[in-house]
Amino acid sequence: RPTRPIRPIQALPDQLISQIAAGEVIERPSAVVKELLENALDAGATQITVRLEQGGVKRIAITDNGRGIPPEQMPLALARHATSKIASLTDLENVGTLGFRGEALASIASVAQLTLTTRTADAAHAWEITGSQEGNVVPASGSPGTTIDVQDLYFNTPARRKFLKSEQTEYGHCAEVVRRIALARPDVTFSLTHNGKTVDHWNIGEFAKRSAHILGDEFANARLPVDESAGPLRIHGFIGLPTASKARADGQYFYVNGRFVRDKLLVHAVRAAYQDVLHGDRYPSYALALDLDPALVDVNVHPSKIEVRFRDSRSVHQFVFHAVSRALAATSATSFGNAP
Ligand code: ADP
Ligand code: MG
Repeated sequence: RPTRPIRPIQALPDQLISQIAAGEVIERPSAVVKELLENALDAGATQITVRLEQGGVKRIAITDNGRGIPPEQMPLALARHATSKIASLTDLENVGTLGFRGEALASIASVAQLTLTTRTADAAHAWEITGSQEGNVVPASGSPGTTIDVQDLYFNTPARRKFLKSEQTEYGHCAEVVRRIALARPDVTFSLTHNGKTVDHWNIGEFAKRSAHILGDEFANARLPVDESAGPLRIHGFIGLPTASKARADGQYFYVNGRFVRDKLLVHAVRAAYQDVLHGDRYPSYALALDLDPALVDVNVHPSKIEVRFRDSRSVHQFVFHAVSRALAATSATSFGNAP
C-alpha cells in the first residue's frame, strides 16, 4: 500500500468545512429547492416562485415576498452556523421554524454560484451579495422580499457532479419537493417553471386543485376529512377512500408541525387503520398534518430534517391510528353502508 506523507493536525478552511457539510445536506438539486423554500416560508412569504433550468443543475432561482434581510445582515446569512431562528438550547427544543441550523445558504454557496437579492419592506431599494460571505453588498433593484439565485451546482466539486442523474430525473425530484411543500401550505401561492415554461401554478386556497394534481383525481373526488385533537396533539387533513389507493406508496404525505416527514411509526399507524378495508398490496393515499407542542418532538435528528423522534411515540401512534380509523368508519356507516 502506498504510504501518504504524515501531516500535522490542522483546522480545515471554512470553505472546505462548508463543502463537507454540503455533501450531507445538498445531495442533489432538489435539496437546494427544499432549503430555499423552507427559508421563504420561514420569512412569512405568501407568494413563492421557483424557476429551474436543466433540472436545477444549471439554475435554481427562488423568489419570495417575505420579510427580506436588512443589508447589514446579508453577509451573515451566508455565513456558517449563523441563523435568526434560534439563539439558545431552549429555542432549539421549542423550534417553530422549518430551519434552525444556519447552514443551508453557506453550504449551497460553497458548491454553487449563489446570488442573494433582498429587500425589507421599509427599504428604499434592494441589496445584492454574490458568492460567499466575503462578497460586497451592493444596491440592486427588486421588490420587497428575497431572491436566491443558485447557478452551476457542484461546478467546483466534480466528484459530486458525477452522481447527478439525467435532467429529467433531477427535475422530477425538484418538482416533488415543490409539491410536498405546496400541499401543506394552501395559504401560499406557488409557481414552478422549468426551462422557461410554467409547469405548476397554485393560487392561495386551491387545495382541491393541488391535491388533484399531486395525489390524483381519484383522491380529490373521494377524500375524507380528518380533524381531531387530544391534549397537545392535533391531526388534520384528508385521507383517500380505499378506491383511491395505489400500487405504490407515492401518495403518502405526512407533515409534522408543517414539515414533510418520512416516519415509520406514522406510516404504520395509518396503514393499520386501513387494515380491514384495504388489500395488503395496496397503499392508502393521504395528506395529513400532525401538529403538537414542538417540545414533544425532536426534529434535530438529521440535517435534512425528514426524520423526527417523538417523545411519546406510543401515544402518537394510537392517536393517529384512532383518528384515521374513525374517519374511515364514518364513511362505511354512511355512504357505503353494510345494508343489503
Ligand atoms: P437557517 O434557515 O437554518 O437559519 P439558512 O442558511 O437557510 O439557515 O439561512 C440563514 C439565515 O438567512 C436565516 O436564519 C434567515 O435569517 C436568512 N434568510 C435566508 N433565506 C431567507 C429568505 N428567503 N427571506 C428572509 N430571510 C432569509
Ligand atoms: Mg434555512
